[in-house]
Amino acid sequence: MEPEPYCATDLPSVPAVATAEPGVPVADCVLCGEPTEHPATVSGATLCPRCEWQQAQRGACSG
Ligand SMILES: [Zn+2]
Repeated sequence: MEPEPYCATDLPSVPAVATAEPGVPVADCVLCGEPTEHPATVSGATLCPRCEWQQAQRGACSG
């Protein structure tokens, strides 16, 4: 008699930068308050595409 296989919980791999699916509440941009492309469940500061671009520009120019 073989024991019953343990029911493993197969969690789907989540991408590092998750994009919100339709119907999922999105997080607000921490800079301008505009809705971002990231789901509200994402931790950390969320930026809208425009602010992300501006941050990238600042990073590129500073040093
Ligand atoms: Zn923004």
